[in-house]
Amino acid sequence: MSDPIEVLHTGQLDIPTEIRLARPPRSPRPNVDPEAATDIMRGLRASVETVRGIGPKMVESLANLNVHTIEDMLALLPRRYDDYTRLTSISRLVPTQNTTVIATVRRSELKAIKSKRKDLWVEFYDGTGTLHVTFFGQHYLSRTFQPSTQFVLHGRVTAFRGQPQMTNPEWEQIDPENLRQIGIVPIYPLTEGISGRTMRRLMRDTVTYWAERLPDYMPVTVLERTDLADLGWAIKNLHFPEGHDHLAHARNRYVFDELLLMQLSILATRREWQSTPAEPLPVDDGFMDEFIASVFPYSLTTAQQRAIADIRHDAAKPIPMNRLLQGDVGSGKTAVAISAMILAFANGKQAALMAPTGILAEQHYRSISRQLEATPGDRKPHVALLTSALSAADKRAVIAGLADGSIDIVIGTHAVIEEGVTFQNLGLAVIDEQHRFGVQQRGRLRGKGLNPHVLVMTATPIPRTLALTLFADLDLTVLDEMPPGRTPIDTYIIPDVKRERMYRFVEEQLEQGRQAFIVHPLVEASETIEAASAVEEYERLSQVFYRYRVGLLHGKMRPAEKDDIMGAFSHGEIDVLVTTSVAEVGVDVPNANVIIIEGANRFGLAQLHQFRGRVGRGQHKSTCFLVPDADTPESEARLKALTETTDGFKLAEIDWQQRGACDLIGTRQSGRSKLQLLHAMVPHLVDMAQREARTLFEEDPYLTLPEHRLLAERVAMLYDPEIDVS
Ligand code: ADP
Ligand code: MG
Repeated sequence: MSDPIEVLHTGQLDIPTEIRLARPPRSPRPNVDPEAATDIMRGLRASVETVRGIGPKMVESLANLNVHTIEDMLALLPRRYDDYTRLTSISRLVPTQNTTVIATVRRSELKAIKSKRKDLWVEFYDGTGTLHVTFFGQHYLSRTFQPSTQFVLHGRVTAFRGQPQMTNPEWEQIDPENLRQIGIVPIYPLTEGISGRTMRRLMRDTVTYWAERLPDYMPVTVLERTDLADLGWAIKNLHFPEGHDHLAHARNRYVFDELLLMQLSILATRREWQSTPAEPLPVDDGFMDEFIASVFPYSLTTAQQRAIADIRHDAAKPIPMNRLLQGDVGSGKTAVAISAMILAFANGKQAALMAPTGILAEQHYRSISRQLEATPGDRKPHVALLTSALSAADKRAVIAGLADGSIDIVIGTHAVIEEGVTFQNLGLAVIDEQHRFGVQQRGRLRGKGLNPHVLVMTATPIPRTLALTLFADLDLTVLDEMPPGRTPIDTYIIPDVKRERMYRFVEEQLEQGRQAFIVHPLVEASETIEAASAVEEYERLSQVFYRYRVGLLHGKMRPAEKDDIMGAFSHGEIDVLVTTSVAEVGVDVPNANVIIIEGANRFGLAQLHQFRGRVGRGQHKSTCFLVPDADTPESEARLKALTETTDGFKLAEIDWQQRGACDLIGTRQSGRSKLQLLHAMVPHLVDMAQREARTLFEEDPYLTLPEHRLLAERVAMLYDPEIDVS
């Protein structure tokens, strides 16, 4: 986690020294009338147009930043902060570092390159040294960079013959206000039509106004237990921190609020949908034992048995189950899903299983329908597949069968519960590999008069506390045990010099009839660039493995193309599959026993673990090669963890400690789309927010006590788009 506060380098400036603050100050809560307080709070929903100095033009510009209301504006956090309190000089600039500098223009010069382009070259100084800056093709800036004017420059420092340089840095003319009033200056995301200076002025006005007036909705008892800052103070210091400690306290409060409000809202939603009853699906032990003994050719692991017991317990109640089954790749989630679906069948109800892709649905369909043939008793479940690949006639037949109840179990993609599909009586739905079965999907089912029991399954290991927060509406079961007889995957870190040896190893495996994955992922690039670079890599590897059939799978391909390639790989018509992401390769290819992961240092451990899980699915000994494209001691230590453990949860835990929650949950949509500061979701804050959410929910589930009233309003405001100020 990098410190977002930039340390500036400059000569002497008259700037206040830093103030330390061990604990956030707490002011006594003023006595406000709750009605009035609610009104003020709802004022956050007002358009930014109500802010003095913001006209229609500016409203448009702000909309580009997704800022429409006062609330959005307060939530627009600085990209970084420039710290004027910790200054050094140009003479101490370190090449290759991103740095912010305050310096004065000495002279500038236009340099014509060839015929067309004119570059602007500017020499800056700060009393300790000179810095040369080139603005490529930006000759028009020459009027701005007048001698003797002072600027803040931000960019990467390079050195040319010992002379520090910057190219196309971000720049801003010095605002003497910033120097006099505060030491740490927020740098906001900008868009056309708003300068940094204007944005800061607008923010300062808005923040000052609201920080003073906004009532703190957090119950005092919560703040006392958690030792967090007051709301107004936190808002002020989040935007215009008085010091580093202040900023840290402000952030803690902000992240805590996001986490707590999210959970309270999720818990409320859960309570809401649980208020509509579901059909109870009880079965007796005799039936279940016989079913399991006849259908599965192995005995279930203790973890699988426990999961099935949890599900039976939930589904036997007239309250809709909403359970998350977390289990590493290969932990045997399918057997649990089958056992859950049979609960519906045994009670004369239908069940559905939804997979993220058509090809996965097909794979599930094949194996599940085969296994269910062994269902004890005379009536076997009628299992059908429903994907977009079906012919129109087949599709019609399945849809009819679901409507009249002749199909018991349907396996397909998400479309199963959507377009024009009606069920005679859907008792239970399983969602595989879906991070979240959203409120929307539930709403859609409800619209069809259905409120089935829902089991969500995921192979993404998320540490328990984090999972409990993000999925507060789900009960959690973890498959923490692997079926016996797995040979662990050998994992090696491969420096570039050993690349040839690695390829030779892969060839040996291919020679013996095995198959290989080569993951060539790119991060932070557009999909188009990613595709292009994957094609390049594919061509290179086609030469390396010229004696074998090499295939390519990337995100830019059409779904049908992807399915073709994936199909060819799983049928053994392709030996080496070069791919850009794992999302595409959720399919089981037991004959593939080698995986190479390029650029491994760029990924979270949990993600790498997912990649690795593509192999080790058959009886052949499997190998995973991690090839970093840069080696820092930090990334080496991280990758080493992968060579030492195959426990996905342990890896996720390490990830969380080291890199924050970003990697683990990625860009997952939360109830509120703008869950910011993921990197600040450190374990102790998540723990704290969870504890407080549960305490509040237990004490006062409807938040009706007077001291919780504002909090209830705040939750409703954040998550209910219906509430408006007008
Ligand atoms: P995942 O959790 O990744 O969905 P699967 O359900 O696909 O895992 O199971 C992976 C493999 O393990 C399958 O081939 C399955 O037949 C096998 N399997 C599942 N449970 C057991 C068990 N208890 N004992 C032995 N093999 C099992
Ligand atoms: Mg699976």
